[in-house]
Amino acid sequence: MSRIASVLIPMPLPEAFDYEAPDGMTLAVGDQVAVPLGPRLIRGVVAGVRDGTGGNRPLKAVAERLDEPRLPPGALEFVQWAARYAVDAPGAPLAIALRGARAPKPRPVRVLEPTGRTPGRTTPARAKVLEAAAAGAMTPADLARTAGVSAGVVKGLLDEGCLAERLVAADIGFDPPDLSRKGSELNASQAAAAAALSEMAAAGQFGVALLDGVTGSGKTEVYLEAAAAALAADPQAQVLILLPEIALTQAVIGRVRTRFGAQPGEWHSDVTPPARRRVWEAVASGDCRIVVGARSALFLPFRKLALVVVDEEHDGSFKQEDGFIYHARDLAVARGKIEGAAVILASATPSLETLRNAETGRYRWLRLSARHGIARLPDIELIDLRETPPEHGRWLSPPLVTAMGETWARGEQTLLFLNRRGYAPLVLCKACGGRMTAPDTDSWLVEHRYTGRLVCHLTGFSMPKPAACPHCGAKDSLVSIGPGVERVEEEARFLFPDARVAVFSSDTIFDAREARRLVEAMADGQIDILVATQAAAKGHNFPKLTLVGVVDADLGLRGGDLRAAERTYQLLAQATGRAGRKDRPGRALLQTYAPEHPVMQALKAQDRDAFVEAEMVEREAAGLPPFGRLAAVIASGPDAAQLEAFMQEMARVAPNTPGVEVYGPADAPLSLVRGRRRKRFLVRADRGVDLSAYMAAWRARVRPPGQVRAAIDIDPYSFL
Ligand code: ADP
Repeated sequence: MSRIASVLIPMPLPEAFDYEAPDGMTLAVGDQVAVPLGPRLIRGVVAGVRDGTGGNRPLKAVAERLDEPRLPPGALEFVQWAARYAVDAPGAPLAIALRGARAPKPRPVRVLEPTGRTPGRTTPARAKVLEAAAAGAMTPADLARTAGVSAGVVKGLLDEGCLAERLVAADIGFDPPDLSRKGSELNASQAAAAAALSEMAAAGQFGVALLDGVTGSGKTEVYLEAAAAALAADPQAQVLILLPEIALTQAVIGRVRTRFGAQPGEWHSDVTPPARRRVWEAVASGDCRIVVGARSALFLPFRKLALVVVDEEHDGSFKQEDGFIYHARDLAVARGKIEGAAVILASATPSLETLRNAETGRYRWLRLSARHGIARLPDIELIDLRETPPEHGRWLSPPLVTAMGETWARGEQTLLFLNRRGYAPLVLCKACGGRMTAPDTDSWLVEHRYTGRLVCHLTGFSMPKPAACPHCGAKDSLVSIGPGVERVEEEARFLFPDARVAVFSSDTIFDAREARRLVEAMADGQIDILVATQAAAKGHNFPKLTLVGVVDADLGLRGGDLRAAERTYQLLAQATGRAGRKDRPGRALLQTYAPEHPVMQALKAQDRDAFVEAEMVEREAAGLPPFGRLAAVIASGPDAAQLEAFMQEMARVAPNTPGVEVYGPADAPLSLVRGRRRKRFLVRADRGVDLSAYMAAWRARVRPPGQVRAAIDIDPYSFL
């Protein structure tokens, strides 16, 4: 008999592997270890330890127990739960959970301290530096700043030997939240919601609430109160706030800092590896008590998670579509359950799934009905583009242009919303009609004027815009069709040459710092007209913004998947909700060719409940979410015949289960990506069916040949 450790490895392997624990090595669940896998040593996490023998083959031994924080039991259980739910290998979510643990540690910092030697020449500046350094070692930059002198003075003292360098470990601590600070004075409906949520958050047990309030009603203020209650109830409690966009994380980090006087842990794709490591370790040790992050923050090793807030819970960006496929809102509820934590889902336009759970009483439902204070929701008007079209080659209709002019004359701001990056979504040859497409993907290339390139938004492929048509060779024949934000910006500059115009899209804003700068400039009134994709149209408060123009309100309705109407409603309600804050009334104008469409009518009437009810009726009749469940199989491969044979085989072996229907195989709408053909199955199931178990059983019956890959998407949001 020996001790056997079952070790999860952050790679796409179906299960944990057994290793022998060498004599003298004590291992516990959650320990990070190095184990041999083939010729390599690889990092893994102990998922179980037992006495036993290795069966007929001798087991390899654990090479080393790493001197690294242990993954807490809740985090490990969550990883395993998520894998089962998503029908994927546990190594896939484990790799996400270990991302911060594998990042390089913050490098030691160079600090200066006095040596005791007196400078040959004493000046007041030098005296100040020595005095500051005597109070505590500091980096050269901090020292210069504290003493109020130039870097040269510090360097002079260092060169003269009056200061000496020392390397110290980077500070990895987080300041504790100051719980004596008070939040804003809440109005009556905010106070009622805050009281209910605070009670839940402080209770130390699982429970889910929907915080449902129009844009600007104070949802953030309210959930920060619940966070304060959770932190105060237990000195070890931790709070996680999830947001769908990096730009929004910046805004909420600012509000957390104001509310608690401490910087929260920040977690998203733009955080540097050493900063990730710092957050990861501080979350594991319990030192970092508030994390603000994007969806993958859900996999952090919380020691004592008491509250998870999913802000803008309806947002499609919470769905991770590549690699490990998951929906962070759904997994947040699962993590809450595992940890015994409260979960708050906040939105002005909740998803139908969440509304259904609120209606049936599974979630508590707290509503904030009005904007805070004297701020009112904007008036929403539809512009029928069939009646008042823009001039030829333009995208802004006369009524919108007039409103922009009036807004500018009053010294107020306009947001033009168009959820399309780049300059033009399509480039074609006016001689032969040929479209510019990506070479190995069936997508159109999008023209970007800033970079002068044609870009595939799916794969990132790009090429310079050619001088001649690649199909017919005609010179200067390529024309740009349709608008993207860059083209609308061009038009706004042309119409208002003296206005300050800016663009906000993921092509123009590369990192969190730049996003924050632009959001601050807008909030500060330094921009007159902001042209933005959804990256800027959500969540922010811009006090001087009084006009929102939606350039193409119909955009999201085309293509029409199951959630097209819901998504369009949510996005446009968010975008129009930016208009009018504080004491300035706002106005939103939606350009549409289909003013009679139920989505447009609901937006105009600001009647969310009627819209939701109509959608619910349709979904229920079709057995679609939230009344039924969906899953998809997306298979791809370079060889069309091999892929087709595999799909036929899958269709043949699909388990026959009551309450489950399998549709397909069908060509995916995006039938070619990076040279790989794509095909799909769609599975619909009644609510009571364990769809993950069904998909796992199905997958176990087939093995994709050679280069075919098959991914399972539980609760798909993309049907491409
Ligand atoms: P939401 O998250 O619902 O969009 P916020 O919490 O961002 O709303 O509130 C909108 C604006 O109103 C913010 O500028 C916020 O500071 C302000 N606000 C909301 N509630 C209060 C309050 N009780 N006292 C003072 N300001 C408030």
